[in-house]
Amino acid sequence: MTVTVIAGCISCGLCTEEYPDLFVMNDEGIAHPVSHEVPAGKEKEAQQAAEDCPVSVIITA
Ligand code: SF4
Repeated sequence: MTVTVIAGCISCGLCTEEYPDLFVMNDEGIAHPVSHEVPAGKEKEAQQAAEDCPVSVIITA
């Protein structure tokens, strides 16, 4: 599974607070995946983050 944050993050902090293994904020306060490839065993968390993001900019594939 891969995870991407597309344009439009509103810096709410949900993904980085709930899933710090998967997402980090950059210097501009925009969330990015720690790794494009979701680590083994973290697939459900990545999927949940995608569902929870208020502006639906977390994309899993
Ligand atoms: S949950 Fe969505 S809007 Fe909030 S910080 Fe993460 S990517 Fe950005």
